[in-house]
Amino acid sequence: MTFTALTGVYSMQYGELVETYRVTLGDKTYEVPVEYYVWKNGNGHFVWVSLGVHPLEYQAHKCMFEAVKWFVYNSGEFEGTLVVSWIKIPAEYYQSGSEEEKYRVSRDLGQLTFYNHVLPYVLHPKELGSKVGVPITRKPELFLDVHAHRPSWGVSEFILIPAGPIHGNDNPESFQRALQICEVLAGVIGARVDTQQTGTSPPWVTAPVAKHGIPAATFENGYYYIGQELPPNYDNYRTELDKAFLEALYLYALEGGRVPPTPEGYRKLARWYAMAAETWGRTVEYLSKAAETHPEYRSELQRLAEIAAKIRDLLVEMSEECKRVAELLERGQRDEAARLVDSELIPEYEEVTRLYDEYISGTKRIPVRISDVFASEEHESGDYIEVFGVKLPVSLAATIAGAGILAAVITFKVSVNPLVGLIACGALLWLSRRWS
Ligand SMILES: [Zn+2]
Repeated sequence: MTFTALTGVYSMQYGELVETYRVTLGDKTYEVPVEYYVWKNGNGHFVWVSLGVHPLEYQAHKCMFEAVKWFVYNSGEFEGTLVVSWIKIPAEYYQSGSEEEKYRVSRDLGQLTFYNHVLPYVLHPKELGSKVGVPITRKPELFLDVHAHRPSWGVSEFILIPAGPIHGNDNPESFQRALQICEVLAGVIGARVDTQQTGTSPPWVTAPVAKHGIPAATFENGYYYIGQELPPNYDNYRTELDKAFLEALYLYALEGGRVPPTPEGYRKLARWYAMAAETWGRTVEYLSKAAETHPEYRSELQRLAEIAAKIRDLLVEMSEECKRVAELLERGQRDEAARLVDSELIPEYEEVTRLYDEYISGTKRIPVRISDVFASEEHESGDYIEVFGVKLPVSLAATIAGAGILAAVITFKVSVNPLVGLIACGALLWLSRRWS
């Protein structure tokens, strides 16, 4: 179906489509439906959001879809094109057998469906556009594959993994572009960027997209648990983060990290800083818990928790100050606003930058690197891995590594700067001082 609604100066175009594909796995053939949703409002940025590749992670997909609907219909800020593909594997296909079998069958089916049937549309979106009656004339600027991961993998709940050389993407341009976008985005919502994390899906999903020149990233959109309830209210929290994520992606990251020095610009920055404060707050909780269960690293973990808590508190303050700057700008008190930026926001921003460096070097004092943890297969907690000849419980290794170490990518000699996002905010603050 297609309909057109008037939103602001543009007219919103929308179309949807369901196609069912036959997918063969081993000696069985399955019928797998895939839903496509296309929104277009004017000529702004174009992002493709892929859902359902790993059906056991469905809560993360539902939350992102809620956030997408909010963004296109209710935020008042959507300009551009947004496509969602959602692989809906019937649960009966993976309900029999052992946990291991369910896990494997559900994931393999999703990956194969994507690779054989959804990928051609991502590479040639014009064809999808003509089927749903919404003209699409160019390729996505970013392709995002949404997943969830298990808590034992580490502290960071929200991780962006740009498709790079370790996943089989041999296109340096698409990798660098995805990395830039992810870093700017991560800086304002408190997510982490990890170029070294491997997994089963990238070779089937993000890497084939990125090879064709479309920047692509996997987004670990929070946690999932097998046979266990999510913490209360977890999905509300995740949906709120996803809203900030989409907003910051379209209005900030794809704009090269610039927000205009207007009341609206500062209100958005306020909301994103608040979100970043919340994710750092969770990092504090996890580190404090880890300090109890791993007495051998107690002092290091406590120190990291203290730094993370300071970052959290500063982000809370910065968020409040951004709101005040917005109010002052609204009342036409531009000098006052500029003074607040000079005397409070910039020094705090510099302090966060310094603390982040301290945090990163603190994580290095514990002999684990993120690649040592994530390059390996998933571990049960209680497993041990050997790092520089030291045996460490995987749960601890993941706790530390997930907390924010970025491994440098040497293959393409890309310098990885975890602070690009914050630096971009800083540049914005510096620029906006020159109002008067
Ligand atoms: Zn997954």
